[in-house]
Amino acid sequence: MPYKACKNCGALVPRDSNVCPVCGGTTFVDDWDGVVVVLDNSELAARLKFAKKGMFALKVSGSYVFK
Ligand SMILES: [Zn+2]
Repeated sequence: MPYKACKNCGALVPRDSNVCPVCGGTTFVDDWDGVVVVLDNSELAARLKFAKKGMFALKVSGSYVFK
């Protein structure tokens, strides 16, 4: 896997990153599944607690990121 997922917000970041660019979290997991791409002004972005675009995991450690 070229990416790891932020445990806090589910953002997918390159494996060599140490800080999440979305929430600033520093805890990452390899146990993630599914990919959600959030675009500007998308309906999905409007439903997120954080209105940021980017690529997110659908599930992290078995829990859904988006509820
Ligand atoms: Zn994060």
